[in-house]
Amino acid sequence: MLVVGHLYPELLNLYGDRGNLIAFVRRCAWRGIPVTVRELVLGAPVDFGALDFLFIGGGSDREQGILIEDLHRHRDSLCEAIEGGLVVLAICGGYQVLGHYYQTPDRVIPGLGLLDFYTQAGPKRLIGNCAVEIELDGRPVSVAGFENHSGQTFLGRVQPLGRVLAGFGNNGVDGTEGARYKNVFCSYLHGPLLPKNPCLTDHLISLALKRAGMEMPLVALDDHLEERAVAAALKRAGVTVSGKT
Ligand code: GLN
Repeated sequence: MLVVGHLYPELLNLYGDRGNLIAFVRRCAWRGIPVTVRELVLGAPVDFGALDFLFIGGGSDREQGILIEDLHRHRDSLCEAIEGGLVVLAICGGYQVLGHYYQTPDRVIPGLGLLDFYTQAGPKRLIGNCAVEIELDGRPVSVAGFENHSGQTFLGRVQPLGRVLAGFGNNGVDGTEGARYKNVFCSYLHGPLLPKNPCLTDHLISLALKRAGMEMPLVALDDHLEERAVAAALKRAGVTVSGKT
């Protein structure tokens, strides 16, 4: 049984982010992999060590401000779980809170400092379709999604998730998108990211299975529709794709 956590589902669920979780669970179900989802709401006790996959969606500055105190209570247990291989997908606002801080126009939201980056509100929101090249199992893969953030993120000693092909990514300047550390994948792409990019979803499922001691080759699903959707999303983002995405 894969144990999946959805952190603050009542606060962090922008632009269809919940679809990421639905895609993860559904692609497991199609393969007969049992999954249980725990909603980790504000104020509840959380055992991150018991999870195989944690999803953190995006949120407005206001919502990030509401949850940050509660999140700090869980810092050490989340840190321990990440070091132990917990698979995490953190989107936009959920990504920003894992870094050192997020300087909004009117306050500093102190992050958990688990990954080495900081975020600062920029003069204009970075909005639109975005395409990124990431590396999965040593091969380059193009993923597509939608971004909408005021924060601009600058990485320190942490790898980006990928390289911007079209759109803004972390800050619109340095060509990086997201961050990656151990089994933690951070991205500005809402999308929803996983339904649009099944190869990334399957990669996360494989990592979660490994963490759960259930490592197995994933049965191929009929992805031609999804692949067409990825190609269409990349096209909308202004990227011409040759070959398989
Ligand atoms: N509030 C953050 C920002 O504007 C995150 C937004 C989001 O999650 N889309 O940068």
